[in-house]
Amino acid sequence: MIEGFETLAVHAGQEADPQTGAVVPPIYAVSTYKQDGVGGLRSGYEYSRSANPTRTALEECLAAIEGGTRGLAFASGLAAEDTLLRAVCKPGDHVIIPGDAYGGTYRLFAKVLSRWGLHFDPVPLGDLAAVRAAVRPDTRMIWVETPTNPLLGVADIAGLAEIARQADALLVVDNTFASPYLQQPLALGADVVVHSTTKYVGGHSDVVGGALVARDRGLGEELTYHQNAMGAVAGPFDAWLTLRGIKTLALRMERHCDNAEKVVDLLLAHPRVTEVLYPGLSSHPGHEVAAKQMRRFGGMVSFRVTGGEEAAVRVCDRARLFTLGESLGGVESLIEHPGRMTHASAAGSPLEVPADLVRLSVGIESVGDLLGDLTQALGDA
Ligand SMILES: *Cc1c(COP(=O)(O)O)cnc(C)c1O
Repeated sequence: MIEGFETLAVHAGQEADPQTGAVVPPIYAVSTYKQDGVGGLRSGYEYSRSANPTRTALEECLAAIEGGTRGLAFASGLAAEDTLLRAVCKPGDHVIIPGDAYGGTYRLFAKVLSRWGLHFDPVPLGDLAAVRAAVRPDTRMIWVETPTNPLLGVADIAGLAEIARQADALLVVDNTFASPYLQQPLALGADVVVHSTTKYVGGHSDVVGGALVARDRGLGEELTYHQNAMGAVAGPFDAWLTLRGIKTLALRMERHCDNAEKVVDLLLAHPRVTEVLYPGLSSHPGHEVAAKQMRRFGGMVSFRVTGGEEAAVRVCDRARLFTLGESLGGVESLIEHPGRMTHASAAGSPLEVPADLVRLSVGIESVGDLLGDLTQALGDA
């Protein structure tokens, strides 16, 4: 019985090609399939929006590494979210979302789906009593991110699953920040896992993609139907790149965590750093919950500096090995100023972030080089 995470990441959905023995699923750059007589489909393939063998390989692997019954691959994380929300919710339904939801997710609710009659409330998910109080008779879904972006807040997935169950609502976990290697939401009671596979799952900053993984077969069927009906699927080359990334996910995440822990130590000791946000710190308000539901604490680190916004921007500008850029989860280290970059659109909203905040996506480079670069970027005083 094969069930180790690393084994599944390398093999699930990836039998050697029956014709050639190729050990890696080929890129099936094809839209349609010859039928053996009308309706005589070979292995079920008919048209590549409905299914494509390269995408199938990725989808089976995603289901295996998240411990679900069905995995589905999309053109982006937001395409996956949109498909899920319109498959499951109808006008008039209510969704509880994180008080500090990913900006694109917030925008999808606030600017797109609200026009179609979906109601939502941002709630601080670290506070289970607040979530319980926000549940309404028409609440259809609780949408969770943990850890959150960029403040690294932590929510108790098992506790939220219990609230969702009592409310007859679905629990959806955006597992992008943790990755399936560090956190398994379906085993903690979630119904659906969402990923921006653009981030850790793909892991090499070379492809945009998204995924849904359902725990139950019935919901998996429903989502599969909508994936085809709505059509925002991953193309074969994108699916292939993502599958290639998954093979090393466990190795990469261990190194991301190793390096992040050393970066945290450096920042904690630095006179110009006023606060370090990392769920691995025992001083972090969500540390105990994170320790319960995560294998390790990930590669994302945020910190605040003395000197306010100008100083934070200067640190970002001075970094050299840490590349100044948005996104996260790739092998290369990134640095950014959330207030002016990823979270600029949140200014003046409840999602506004501190101006002196810097966010790091710690990569897998030699840690001495990363520490050296941060030291020079932080400067003296
Ligand atoms: C990037 C991201 C998304 C959106 O995914 P895209 O692939 O950019 O569409 C959703 N959730 C989180 C937590 C993200 O970081």
